[in-house]
Amino acid sequence: MEERKTYFVDVILPVPINNAFTYRVPFEMNEHIKTGVRVVVPFGRSKLQTGIIIKIHEKVPEGYQSKYVEAVLDDAPIITGKQFKLWNWISEYYMAPLGDVMNAALPSNFKLGSETKVLLHPEYEGNLDRLTDKEYQVFEALEIQNELDLKEISDILGIKTIQPVIKSLIEKRVIITQEDLKQKYAPKTQLFVEFAKAYQSDEQIEALIKVYSENARKKKQLDVLLTLLKLGSYKQGESTPILRSELVEHGASASSINTLNKDEVLEIKRLEISRLAEGSEADSSFKSLSEAQQSALDEIRTSFIEKDVTLLHGVTGSGKTEIYVELIQEQLDQGKQVLFLLPEIALTTQLIQRLQRYFGDKVGVYHSRFNQNERVEIWNSLLHNDTTKFQIVLGARSAVFLPFRNLGLIIVDEEHESSFKQYDPSPRYNGRDTAIVLRAFHDAKVLLGSATPAMETFFNAEEGKYGLVSLDKRFGDLMMPEIFTANLKKEKRDKTMQSDFSGFLVEHMKEALENKEQIILFQNRRGYNPVWACEVCGWNPHCKNCDVSLTYHKNSNILKCHYCSYFTPPVGACPKCQSNRLKMIGFGTEKIEDELSIILPGVRVQRLDLDTTRQKNSYENILRDFDDRKIDILVGTQMVTKGLDFDNVSLVGILDADMMLNRPDFRAFERSYQLMSQVSGRSGRKTKRGKVVIQTYDPDHWIIQHVINHDFIGMYKNELIERKNYFYPPFYKMINLTLKHRDPNKLEMMAADLADRLVAVFGSRVLGPEFPVVKRIQNSYLKVIRLKVEREASHKKVKKLLQQKIDDFYSVAYNKSVRIIIDVDPS
Ligand code: ADP
Ligand code: ZN
Ligand code: ZN
Repeated sequence: MEERKTYFVDVILPVPINNAFTYRVPFEMNEHIKTGVRVVVPFGRSKLQTGIIIKIHEKVPEGYQSKYVEAVLDDAPIITGKQFKLWNWISEYYMAPLGDVMNAALPSNFKLGSETKVLLHPEYEGNLDRLTDKEYQVFEALEIQNELDLKEISDILGIKTIQPVIKSLIEKRVIITQEDLKQKYAPKTQLFVEFAKAYQSDEQIEALIKVYSENARKKKQLDVLLTLLKLGSYKQGESTPILRSELVEHGASASSINTLNKDEVLEIKRLEISRLAEGSEADSSFKSLSEAQQSALDEIRTSFIEKDVTLLHGVTGSGKTEIYVELIQEQLDQGKQVLFLLPEIALTTQLIQRLQRYFGDKVGVYHSRFNQNERVEIWNSLLHNDTTKFQIVLGARSAVFLPFRNLGLIIVDEEHESSFKQYDPSPRYNGRDTAIVLRAFHDAKVLLGSATPAMETFFNAEEGKYGLVSLDKRFGDLMMPEIFTANLKKEKRDKTMQSDFSGFLVEHMKEALENKEQIILFQNRRGYNPVWACEVCGWNPHCKNCDVSLTYHKNSNILKCHYCSYFTPPVGACPKCQSNRLKMIGFGTEKIEDELSIILPGVRVQRLDLDTTRQKNSYENILRDFDDRKIDILVGTQMVTKGLDFDNVSLVGILDADMMLNRPDFRAFERSYQLMSQVSGRSGRKTKRGKVVIQTYDPDHWIIQHVINHDFIGMYKNELIERKNYFYPPFYKMINLTLKHRDPNKLEMMAADLADRLVAVFGSRVLGPEFPVVKRIQNSYLKVIRLKVEREASHKKVKKLLQQKIDDFYSVAYNKSVRIIIDVDPS
């Protein structure tokens, strides 16, 4: 008899622990285990988890009895070797547990865990013939109980290896996980109804109707048939499927449709509905490039011969997208894949539409706000190297995790955007920097695009690490907007302000409106009013969980915390001095909206911020209305600064430049320059030279002066000196450690302990501990320790030392209750 081998597998689980876990493989699974496939394993007390095998070996784990693998979920690996290499890099570089990386990387459909709850699929068509006995049992239970977790299912079936059953039920579209439902399940296929094969001629249909009209008990079914005919499902020997939902909307009863289906009069089938909206079918006629665009394109190609990463520094409106399109086409012609990274996908629908117009179905959009099934579809299609679809993937940062096989080019548009960095949860990775690492695994090229590159990026380009191509003219020789300042100090003195608006800006707004032109106003804060303060004693309402003032939201008439979700009704009198002279200080987007209707009566104002765009399509709707000129003034936060392209905007107002400039953050100046330049770029893009008005108390501020002169390089040079003098990036690399604890006194001691340990190895490179700007969030106090290390240092070594010190720190029992959040390259 052949000897059976005893195998062990190392499995990564979606838990924040640095190591893989070892499990024993039951003999009967020996043939099915492979690296990269998912397995179900017991974890913790009677919990099942799904993990991925990263290693198969025969080494018996020492010191403990290993548990058995419960089930193997896949026939073939679901991740590639390159992906796994990337996971490892992220885990090491950002000091994040591999389990966290896996969690961020996999679409949630791949991660069935103990907390997963399943429900009946809202569109389940009720065809039970295809179910196995076990599957049927789950279905039956769900009809009674609505939702079940995996443990309950395991109990019902009396077996432990339930994942294969779940997987099959999901594939057969009988059940859905709760997470999917939460993501507003939007089906790509829908149920259609049409007459069965036996009823495909006038005579057959007539006879059928006759039968049903002669039977009084079949009145409801007759109605269904007549509605179907009315909706045009049958015409002169031609049959057209009709949406079942449409039929029901027209009064047809769902159960009668089912009966007719059983009686083989009607056929119900599931058909794809095109995901591309009508009217946006592929139109592959590219725009011909301007001379400047063409030479930039040529320069990029030349640059790519020597440099793997190239920065395209092109002013706003220079036509970078058309250059991207040419480069993408080149890759497609060679059969290669393209990854196009964007800061926040919802914010760039215009760009998605442009690319879909050129490349049609080849474009896949991968974003966490999208339906999980679509994400899995893109994942699988790439994994199986299906080159007919999704050769171009457009995505936010998480798209770097996809199983690319043959990546030729990565484009990172608006590469300076801070939203490429994930802050919560871990891994705190930067999508742009990760893309550059991913590049190397595929020997692909990276093009970074921006009108206002990040300091680090431009530094790398200047040093020759990256190629640099500049495009300093707008397309169509349009002039850069003319930028003015409104001096708030002077206007306050002269009493020319109208509430928060300078007389200067009001004049310009009136002029634009008279010319039937549109206006964008930028305010870096949402809500009605950041602070409600007592005029007498200065008291202002604070969040009870966090150390921040509450913001007044007028529409809902509540005071709200932007850090946790605490809210409370506004108070009528000051609780400290009992005065009722409560006054609003500062101003948010909601208040601006109100004031505008007083200053400019009859004007149509719309806000664009996180509060107005919560619903899935509201962002798109607002932009469409603005494009259709149903809105005169768009008031918004950061959202209005990004990549929007409207041709009737002649004026942009920046309401509070000082607030941006005064933020206590080493990137405040860089960000202020970027924001002001980007939002300025929305002005006057097609018709004529646009205008920008910046309201400020400090019109001579050097950042504002560089914005006025469109002088990125000047700003860069100046800021670089500051960065060098104060030991900041790009000269130094930073790692922030945030300690969190409910007890401020304990936190104080623990932070001091950790800082001491770090100073012992890193010396003066350690700063703090200090309280951050907001020192309490959700009832936990925070302290930050910053590490600044010369960029020439070995960062692998630095992180290893740091991890060692943290481990030492935690080995003291007293310290175990504090949480440490590690943020490498904070943004
Ligand atoms: P950027 O992304 O650099 O700010 P865009 O790519 O949005 O600039 O281009 C600005 C405007 O110029 C867009 O309306 C775009 O349609 C137009 N445009 C750019 N290149 C061309 C071209 N070659 N032919 C016609 N229109 C172009
Ligand atoms: Zn008071
Ligand atoms: Zn709060």
